[in-house]
Amino acid sequence: AIAGASSLPFALSAASNTAHIVVVGGGFGGATCVNYLHRFDSNLKITLIEPSKTFITCPFSNKVIAGMEKMSSIQFTYQKLAAQANVNIVHDRVVDIDTTSKKITLANDKPLSYDSVVLSPGVSFKWGQIENNDLASANIFPHAWKAGTQTLLLAKQLQAMPDGGTFIISVPEGDFRAPPAPYERASLAAYYLKKNKPKSKILVLDSQDNYEEKALFQKAWKKLYPDMIEWVAGSKGGKITRIDTKNSQVFAGSTSYKGDVINVIPPQQAGTIAIKAGLTNNNGWCDVSQPSFESTKAKSIYVIGDACVAGDMKKLGHAANSQAKICAAAIVSNLHGIKMPEPVYSSSVYSVLNPKYAISSAEVFRLKGDSITKVSGGPSKLNTSKKNLKREARFAKGWYKSITSDMFLG
Ligand SMILES: Cc1cc2nc3c(=O)[nH]c(=O)nc-3n(C[C@H](O)[C@H](O)[C@H](O)COP(=O)(O)OP(=O)(O)OC[C@H]3O[C@@H](n4cnc5c(N)ncnc54)[C@H](O)[C@@H]3O)c2cc1C
Repeated sequence: AIAGASSLPFALSAASNTAHIVVVGGGFGGATCVNYLHRFDSNLKITLIEPSKTFITCPFSNKVIAGMEKMSSIQFTYQKLAAQANVNIVHDRVVDIDTTSKKITLANDKPLSYDSVVLSPGVSFKWGQIENNDLASANIFPHAWKAGTQTLLLAKQLQAMPDGGTFIISVPEGDFRAPPAPYERASLAAYYLKKNKPKSKILVLDSQDNYEEKALFQKAWKKLYPDMIEWVAGSKGGKITRIDTKNSQVFAGSTSYKGDVINVIPPQQAGTIAIKAGLTNNNGWCDVSQPSFESTKAKSIYVIGDACVAGDMKKLGHAANSQAKICAAAIVSNLHGIKMPEPVYSSSVYSVLNPKYAISSAEVFRLKGDSITKVSGGPSKLNTSKKNLKREARFAKGWYKSITSDMFLG
């Protein structure tokens, strides 16, 4: 079985392979895939296309919002990846992929030909699904669901909020990246507010009626932030349908909520390039075959990370990292005419509630037919010791260090 392998457990044919693989997007899926394609076959010609020269991780960005980490500590460059033989990094944006002529159009540079494309563009937002929630509205009600200027904007708004103010977080409908992260954000905002503006309140308006770690979060909120965080279920008026940036209000049908700082996390779909290339289904995500992650809509295009439909796997950085390795192994196996080893997929996510209190969910998956199916794991135990909760907070740091080294080579 292959699980997070650093080398393929079979011998590659001696014949050198000069196939050109283009990886689109240098985030959790894309950067990992470049690293592992190169490890599995250093003769491959690999081009990574990523607009930004620095990558800012969403994991730990909630800590930046709470003032627990500096922005500089969640920022990485591509220099070490680029220093590898046969790896070329182009800082540009892919604007089109012609799957028939196998050509990629870039916003600025000249077009590229490819043998295979790995697409890991993350998510885009379904602007307008919530009335008045357009791109411009995010300058007033930030989403902070892509790390960077939006993260800093939300942090600044919380710093400027009066003591006794209300911070609203709205949790979107449908599949979205990082299912536990809105609740982690509520927790860490509470950590910041409890220290700095203790009369403040946090209102979590949820489109859903339930979420996996609900019991764990509710227990922690009661203990750490009593009476500070209120959670409203979708069926009880939590599902936002309209926003009003002028009056600092959001609406769930006829019920209105007024906030001093409002974080609207919009509903999501695959990154726009996946939509443009015609790779998405009716829900806006990309269906792929296993174990290769090849698109069911176009040959030689592989979609990994948040953008793809990956069975039981949630949309997480760790999931994207695991998928990237399996996809790289499938591409290299295919090029060398070797049978792909049986894949084992893994994912985990830590939610930090204060510097000494964290919970997690770790899962392992295998293929059942063509479907990635959870075979073991799940969330932390509800009744655990203070020592374990503290240990989880330390493990979260270790997890972060190792996954970012796996992407950016340390
Ligand atoms: C607040 C928050 C906290 C989170 N915490 C965790 C956590 O603790 N653990 C965890 O596992 N996950 C966490 N996540 C989820 C994690 O960030 C995502 O699941 C992960 O980033 C998905 O990887 P990806 O490769 O699909 O997309 P990304 O990592 O977003 O990478 C996509 C890249 O593609 C590039 N791109 C997009 N379009 C184009 C184009 N047309 N041309 C070229 N490049 C393009 C983008 O610039 C970007 O760099 C969190 C998310 C949020 C929002």
